[in-house]
Amino acid sequence: NGASVFSTSSPDTLAAQRAKLAQRLSIEAELREALLAGHLRLAYQPIMDIASGQLHGVEALVRWRKPDGEMIAPDVFIPIAEQSDLIIDIGRWVMRQALRDLASLQGGALARLKVHVNMAASEFVSGALPDTLRFMSDELALPTSQVVLELTESMLMRQPEQVSRVMHRLREIGFEISLDDFGMGHSSLAMLKSLPISSLKMDRSFVRDLASGERDRAIAETILDLGHHLRLEVIAEGIEDAAQLAVLQACGCRFGQGYLLGRPLPLDELVLAFPDGRPR
Ligand code: C2E
Ligand code: MG
Ligand code: MG
Ligand code: MG
Repeated sequence: NGASVFSTSSPDTLAAQRAKLAQRLSIEAELREALLAGHLRLAYQPIMDIASGQLHGVEALVRWRKPDGEMIAPDVFIPIAEQSDLIIDIGRWVMRQALRDLASLQGGALARLKVHVNMAASEFVSGALPDTLRFMSDELALPTSQVVLELTESMLMRQPEQVSRVMHRLREIGFEISLDDFGMGHSSLAMLKSLPISSLKMDRSFVRDLASGERDRAIAETILDLGHHLRLEVIAEGIEDAAQLAVLQACGCRFGQGYLLGRPLPLDELVLAFPDGRPR
């Protein structure tokens, strides 16, 4: 295709391209089987209110363990699923499972928890998403306001008008929308102004060198200011050590997620780890 003498990465040979395609197709076929066989699971990573120490929400993260025990990372299989309609089936499974899990928490200490679910671009462009989600949440008698859909900036760019229509419809029904990996993409301020977004997730690349780098701290503070002025919650991603957490708290960041605060866990383990909405 576009491989030319100007391309900076060395173009694959035909044989290498074929091998890649074969691998992609084999992962896709195995994934399709895994979905049907019930081999996908959800793990839930805590999103903490770092001002109060309370559990604020969780992010549902899909997990695939092959029958031989090998774990395949979502960074590997989600992009492959996104190249076919498989992502629609996976997205639907993830959403149904996350809503069922949220329903199972009703009546307990974690009943008010927000559940974040990652969305793929093609789920948004079809336009069927709002009705599908409304049907699922009605069936389980769940408040839609506890469900937060995570989108990335690049998704907003693909078909901005269609995506904006779907987002507004989802907001009317009551779902919340969060912008994932914020700062890595190209969303314009105009988009942030006009789209019905309720929170920003500061990409973990800005959190990483927070305690040592002047500029990283300046960027983090700028994102926090932006969120504050637009009345958006800001959730810092990828907090791994106490120094990063301390800087974020000092900057007035209200919410955080990362291995320091909690790893992704199966639902039953999460419930045990946060008996009264606080870490045990
Ligand atoms: P994401 O939505 O940005 O999710 C956060 C990722 O960062 C997760 O990786 C999480 O385990 C990891 N993480 C959390 N805290 C830390 C930390 O302190 N340090 C580091 N280094 N990493 C941390 P995971 O579970 O491997 O997921 C990777 C990506 O795959 C997600 O990035 C998301 O884009 C996608 N993904 C996961 N589950 C789903 C899903 O159900 N549907 C869709 N469409 N995409 C999904
Ligand atoms: Mg996410
Ligand atoms: Mg993220
Ligand atoms: Mg990410």
